[in-house]
This record gives sequence, structure tokens and C-alpha cells, in this order.
Amino acid sequence: MGEFDLIKRYFTPASYSADVLLGVGDDAAVLAVPPGYRLVMAVDTIVEGVHFPVGTSAADIAYRALAVNLSDMAAMGAQPRWFTLSLCLPDSNEQWLSEFARSLNQLAIRYGVQLVGGDTVKGPLNISIQISGLVGDDGWLTRSGARLGDMVFVSGVPGEAAGGLQLILNPQQQAEEKYRQHLLERFYRPTPRVELGVSLRKLASAAMDVSDGLLTDLRKLCASSRCGATMQLESLPASEALSNVFGESRAEELALQGGDDYELLFTVSDKNLEQLDSVIAATGVACTRIGQITDTLTVQCYRNGMPIEVKDAGFDHFNAG
Ligand code: ADP
Ligand code: MG
Repeated sequence: MGEFDLIKRYFTPASYSADVLLGVGDDAAVLAVPPGYRLVMAVDTIVEGVHFPVGTSAADIAYRALAVNLSDMAAMGAQPRWFTLSLCLPDSNEQWLSEFARSLNQLAIRYGVQLVGGDTVKGPLNISIQISGLVGDDGWLTRSGARLGDMVFVSGVPGEAAGGLQLILNPQQQAEEKYRQHLLERFYRPTPRVELGVSLRKLASAAMDVSDGLLTDLRKLCASSRCGATMQLESLPASEALSNVFGESRAEELALQGGDDYELLFTVSDKNLEQLDSVIAATGVACTRIGQITDTLTVQCYRNGMPIEVKDAGFDHFNAG
């Protein structure tokens, strides 16, 4: 199948909403940004053997490629609207492409984003998605807005995606089937917290999504906000699956240092705590208070009031190992 037919068959949406003035098929897309909104853009590339293990299904790869981008929109408080897809494929395997396209399309529909263009080339498997979203011109979330005394929250259960990855990388690891399934699901199908992010737009003082590890990412947020934080280890959301498969102590390490969760890490001032409760109730996404912003410029972990030194092992592409 040639490039033209491939794009036509798998990557040309049947219809668009009215804000897509020109979609797939021309030299570029043309989009209508409504008055009173700002355009928010992000791009994320995933590479076989780096961001997903060799052997990952086409459906899971497509899900992940789009989900990590949706998560970036969530972290800004933006509503995702449009994306372009750059596909680098070793060959044009029709079964792979149809599974990839079906999964991509399903997730796109669920989150109301539209594929408006892309590029298709031959080479080692990697997928790059550039996403755009809208945010009201009266404010968006950043990493730099945390202030002394704000409470630090995380959504969901950090560490489970990293637990899933451990199971994939170490097939001999024993795990009860229900826990194995749960952890693999968290790795292959992280839930982009879009609704939560949008609801936090006027409420959180700072936000980011957790991709490299909770501790590393909290350090990044603090560095951007020129502040520090405390983290209470006993407050970390408990994962029954992680403790069961890996034991309490390794479960805590995974929660602190494992990446790939795509949960939201955010800060909220005292006066907005009540409003946060309503958002949690409305979105149904559990958010746990794990610490507080300080003026120390470092992140200090405590267990039951005692300071604990945790080594920083978050993921860094150019500093791995
Ligand atoms: P050009 O010659 O301008 O680079 P291409 O032949 O690469 O154009 O692409 C033709 C059209 O198909 C363009 O509108 C482009 O955005 C779209 N396209 C190419 N690859 C993809 C893809 N993987 N997904 C979605 N749209 C794509
Ligand atoms: Mg091209």
C-alpha cells in the first residue's frame, strides 16, 4: 500500500467539527480559535524500546502516543482540540495500521480531539503527536505558580505504571493475575486527567503531569516556582496491587520514583481547598494531599514526622543509568 492510500484509508477522518476549516489532505491544516481563548501547544514523541517495550501492541502504542499528549493539555488546564500525527514505520503492515488507527480514533473521540494532519515516513518505529488545545484567556496552569503554604496534591495512584513496566521487563516476577492485569493496564493505558486539569484551571496555583517520577517532578515544579516542599511518605496513595506484588518498601520506591503515571501533581492554597473537594466529587478522580510548599528550595520527605533521605532516581533520557 502506498503512502497516499495509507493516509486516505487510516488517517483521514470522515468529518470534522466546524472549527476545522481545513484538515487532512492539504499542505497544512487551518483551525479556528474562538474569541476569548488562547492556543496551547505541546508535542511528545514515543520511541520503541525507549517509551514502550518492543512487542507492545499497535493499539497500546496508539493509545499511549495520544494519551501522553492529552496529559500535557490537562496539566495546562487546557481543553485538547486538534492533533497532528507523525508516523515513522518500518513497513506498512495493514493489520498493524488498522489496529493503530482504530485505537487512536477511539481515544480521540473519547476526548473530543481531531486528527488534522501529519506525516508518514519509513524508518525505526516512533510516533510523534503534536497537540493543540484551548484555554480561556483569563488563565492557565503553569509549574511556576506554587506559593509558600500551598498544599501539594497528586491524582490517582502514582507508581502503578512503573509496577506494570517492571512486570513486563521481568517476566519471572510472581504476581497474582488480578494485580498483574491491573498494573499492566496502568502502564499501557494511563488515564489522561483532562477533566480534572480543566477543572483545576482557576483553582490550582501550579500543576504538571507526572511522567518522570513523583519526586523528580515535584522537584521540577518547586524549581520553577522557586520554592521547596515537604512530602509525607505515609500519605502517599496506597496501591494494593503494588504492595502485594512488590512488598511495601519497593511499592513506596515505585510510587516516589517510577515514571509513566501521567497523573496530575498540583498545588492549592488554603482558601481553595473546599472548592477542590467539589472538583474531586464532580470528576470522580481521587486526589491525595501529599505535602506542602515551603521556602527551603529543596524537597524533604518525612515518615511520621521523621526526615527521610530518598535518593533521586527519576528518569532522564540523557542521564540514564
Ligand atoms: P506533503 O507532501 O505536504 O508533506 P504529505 O503527502 O506528507 O504532504 O501528506 C498529505 C496530507 O496527509 C497532509 O494533509 C498531511 O497533513 C496528511 N498526513 C500525512 N501523514 C499523515 C498521518 N500519519 N496522519 C494524518 N495525516 C497525515
Ligand atoms: Mg509530508
